[in-house]
Amino acid sequence: MNAEQIIIRKRDGIELSKQELQFIVEGFVCGEIPDYQMAALLMAIYFQGMSFEETFLLTKQMIASGKKVDFSHLDKFPIDKHSTGGVGDKISIILAPLVASAGVAVPMMSGRALGHSGGTLDKLEAIPGFRTRLTLFEFVKQVEKIGIAMIGQTEEIVPADRKIYALRDRTGTIPSIPLVVASILSKKIAEGAKALVLDVKTGKGAFFSSEDKALQLAETMIAIGEKFDLPTTALMTAMDQPLGYAIGNWLETREAIDILKGNGPEDVVEITLALGAEMLYQSGIVDNVASGLNRLKQLLESGDAYEKFLFLIEAQGGDLSVIENPNKYPKSQYNQIIFSAKEGYIQSINALKIGLLTMEIGAGRKKISDQIDYGAGIVLQKKVGDPISRGEALAKIFCSTDISSDYLREKIDEAIEITANPKPVPCLILKYINKDGQFSWRHYVNK
Ligand code: URA
Repeated sequence: MNAEQIIIRKRDGIELSKQELQFIVEGFVCGEIPDYQMAALLMAIYFQGMSFEETFLLTKQMIASGKKVDFSHLDKFPIDKHSTGGVGDKISIILAPLVASAGVAVPMMSGRALGHSGGTLDKLEAIPGFRTRLTLFEFVKQVEKIGIAMIGQTEEIVPADRKIYALRDRTGTIPSIPLVVASILSKKIAEGAKALVLDVKTGKGAFFSSEDKALQLAETMIAIGEKFDLPTTALMTAMDQPLGYAIGNWLETREAIDILKGNGPEDVVEITLALGAEMLYQSGIVDNVASGLNRLKQLLESGDAYEKFLFLIEAQGGDLSVIENPNKYPKSQYNQIIFSAKEGYIQSINALKIGLLTMEIGAGRKKISDQIDYGAGIVLQKKVGDPISRGEALAKIFCSTDISSDYLREKIDEAIEITANPKPVPCLILKYINKDGQFSWRHYVNK
């Protein structure tokens, strides 16, 4: 067997065998298969796709690339959530401590920025001192002690996803259903979760912008999750405009902190509560999703979720003083305000364009080895449906390089559409999907 022959077979649309997938994953993790061959294979998979069986076997090989955690000794139910990637998506930072404060265990393994979308790990690492690279031993001990840990893929757990994810980020191979499924499920199965709730994004800023493709992704993850005995359910949520106002690592973490302290954008809160309520229901902590929603609202209001967040930050070495007083965070060297040249209503805010601009001004990587600028990003001043006057602020931009204000204004004008007519606030939760089919979320909550 050799890597080139396997690339050729996949390029020509032939289904890969278990042995071939094992050869590729093991060879890539140990460094025998170089990045250029793996990148070529990923592109072949992007174009040719994979059968259900191949996707299952790829996921299995990726799990087998490292150790698998077992939390069956815990007195709490270990459950996790994962998003398929969006712009301004800081939900995990709020959701994990929130549901942990309700009494479930959250052994959460996340990823870094992927393409134009941000990553939970980069957002957490924006907190001075915060360590996402815990050893397996530290990870397990922390979940046992405080019911929550937030880490990334390491050399010990899913090293295959760690390497493949970074390569996909820079090679145009992100929106491939088998690659997304294997990436997400390998992390969740290896980390020891006993159930999974997915946030499957659709719309302009999602990797699968059409609802049909997003549904196919959700259904494949649910079916493969079941094959691994991981009960999996999904909410399909809108990703046409960014979530919340802040886009960029520290700016998003700061917005998440605001929500945990009881203030923050309604769209982020709505999706966080919905995903959390489904997690509590799947864990058996509540009898129905409506009770889960009420329980989580109380935990946010009482400050219990924020307190759990502080335990998490402290346990992983983060600077608590910055969390308590976010104004202490070092200011970006350059900041600019973009004002509206028009009067009217915000019709659309293109999440893809805003995501790409945020990456371009320093929040993302152009090469795997790039350092990111944690303070860089955009804070929108308006959401879709809001009225706007001429001369009112549309967006604030933060970065550490001096970028021409004409260029930034042009980019913001391209991303934000203003028209004379008002637009209704868009619906956020489009569907609920489980192994029995797809349902309206409202109907599911009230059943
Ligand atoms: N999140 C992941 O962990 N992997 C993907 O491929 C997409 C989103």
